Amino acid sequence: MSKKRLVFATGNQGKVNEFRQMLGEEYEILSMKDMDVTVEIIEDGRTFEENAIIKAKTVMEATGEMVLADDSGFEVDALNKEPGIYSARYMGEDTPYSIKNAELLRRCEGVPEEKRDARFVCVIACAYPDGTIDTATGIIEGKLAYEPKGENGFGYDPIFFLPERGCTTGELPPEEKNKISHRGIAIRKMVEILKKKGTV
Ligand code: IMP
Repeated sequence: MSKKRLVFATGNQGKVNEFRQMLGEEYEILSMKDMDVTVEIIEDGRTFEENAIIKAKTVMEATGEMVLADDSGFEVDALNKEPGIYSARYMGEDTPYSIKNAELLRRCEGVPEEKRDARFVCVIACAYPDGTIDTATGIIEGKLAYEPKGENGFGYDPIFFLPERGCTTGELPPEEKNKISHRGIAIRKMVEILKKKGTV
């Protein structure tokens, strides 16, 4: 049986591997590098969903393949959902997260527990060669911590506190975080959509 082809529009090999694992070996999942595509993607959407669709569509149009793309970020309610879609770019792409995290905590000094709601959001879009689109959203709810904790994960993990676990996602072992993460939820939902459609 020939494998179905699917391109994952990301420069992050970890995400490609995660998806490959979940779909199983009978599917061929290619990265942008595998396809040797270099297209300019203008991420000017106003939501995670719009940005994920822009990425998936742009690469689908450049390759003619079925393409998946994701967009994710961190929302802090007390900051009007900042950094949101600007999570990677907040305070500059090259600014260390120790500084970005300290600044978010500083801006929320004095904000009480009940107003510290925060979440990670991930939207995965699939652009099919016939022009149609599917999207799947994963969200993990928690609180903005009071101080950074934990050496695991990346980005905003040290300041994202999970009340039911009593720790930040930066303190969780990677396999624990993957089980409950926004990205894991979105990936599982997208795999279900693709399987139901019989696309893969
Ligand atoms: P991307 O869309 O997956 O590249 O993620 C955008 C940005 O959101 C990242 O650069 C991080 O700042 C933030 N982010 C997304 N997911 C996570 C996570 O699981 N932990 C910490 N930060 C995250």
